[in-house]
Amino acid sequence: INYLPPPAICITPPKQSLGVYAQRLYMPFSKLGLSDPILKAITDKGYNTPTPIQQKAIPAILSGKDLVAAAQTGTGKTASFVLPILEKLNVEHAHRGKRIRALIITPTRELTEQVEANIALYSKYLDLTSMAMYGGIDAEPQKQRLIEGVDILVATPGRLLEMIYQRAVHFDELEVLVLDEADRMLNMGFIDDINKVIDRLPSKRQSLLFSATLTDDVRFLAKTVNEDALEITISPKSTTAPTIDQWLITVDKDKKSALLSHLINDQQWDQALIFISTKHGAAKLVSQLGKRNITAEAIHGDRSQAMRAKTLADFKSGELKFLVATGIAARGIDIDNLTRVVNYDLPFKPEEYIHRIGRTGRAGASGEAISFVAMGDFKNLCAIESRLGHIIKRKEFEEFPVRKTVPVSILNYVPKNKKQPKQGNSNSAKRTQKNTSQRTNRKPAKDTNNDSSNTNQHIWGK
Ligand code: AMP
Repeated sequence: INYLPPPAICITPPKQSLGVYAQRLYMPFSKLGLSDPILKAITDKGYNTPTPIQQKAIPAILSGKDLVAAAQTGTGKTASFVLPILEKLNVEHAHRGKRIRALIITPTRELTEQVEANIALYSKYLDLTSMAMYGGIDAEPQKQRLIEGVDILVATPGRLLEMIYQRAVHFDELEVLVLDEADRMLNMGFIDDINKVIDRLPSKRQSLLFSATLTDDVRFLAKTVNEDALEITISPKSTTAPTIDQWLITVDKDKKSALLSHLINDQQWDQALIFISTKHGAAKLVSQLGKRNITAEAIHGDRSQAMRAKTLADFKSGELKFLVATGIAARGIDIDNLTRVVNYDLPFKPEEYIHRIGRTGRAGASGEAISFVAMGDFKNLCAIESRLGHIIKRKEFEEFPVRKTVPVSILNYVPKNKKQPKQGNSNSAKRTQKNTSQRTNRKPAKDTNNDSSNTNQHIWGK
């Protein structure tokens, strides 16, 4: 197969920006119930019209509803919860002050910083304070900031729990909880930490859950506990941002680095974020590219926060053209003009694929997502393409003939372990608990292990 054209159900990319896409809906921000200082900050940022997720989520959150929202990064989802939270906190003044009033939990340091940067931008005409809190750096300055008073805390689960145990953070004034990228947090094994945090929150609060994909586990987690939570789905289940040109190339494993170098040189790539499965692989690839005179840097969890921040800043500024990242480290990377992502190793989970390629084509810009598929990836590819609902177009390069071609996927592919009929919802929750615990090698928390309904109760229970 030289080239498979996208099937009819593939969404045609609109060649326009997210702002233009939003404008077609003719709903101004001023109609959503946001007050002048916030509207002014939005105008300063250059937004004209709310995106679909913003149009749906902002009024719902302002009305006090709990929410479960499926929206990928790149749809404007951050502003969809940040703006109404700012509005609420600005209008309803705190009784005692100096206490956290909104808590946003995110899976990674990068995303934490990114969300907090958005809050700072949108609240520039308000008298509200925010802070990003994550591990890997000195906790003392963070404690000091908490003492001085923070209205909105954006935090990763581990450091947050640490601060709770040290009684450095208090939630008696908490009004809103946001779980951002919930599917990702489940995948990363944060469920125990999150449950422990939620145990310490006041039961009277508004709860918002955002997730790129509403997997059965995420939906079950949210829905079974709070039937009243409003569910919003922006993109149809399992689609990717429409401006991304996806294609794949089958390649023998030992030819991957040569193929990557060839593509970089031959197609004169300006920039690429390259996903790889292991940190060892990342270091090796950087050195292989270096031997071919291509400068790349690696970013992964083992690097110090300062190193990661520097590498990321270099990549964002365009000084560094090629960034090799393990999936977790790359979470939360927000670069407006990132033109290309490469799945050097195909991810194991379809959601991960969707997340990864969501790094490009952001804010409506067009992007390219290229996957290297080796023989052993067939099942993963089937799962990904089944989730997408279409076959990804294939390209072949004469210089890289493959020893064995990867067959074309079966689109209704269901992994063997998913074929078992479900024994009711509680088993599904147990599976979530088990999977996530195994990943982190942590013992499941006593209070969530035996009664799956408790797991969910903690997330949304009042
Ligand atoms: P997010 O999905 O929150 O990661 O946002 C993706 C990008 O869209 C960010 O660069 C935002 O600055 C941008 N954005 C958010 N809301 C709007 C809007 N209403 N109009 C134009 N751009 C927006």
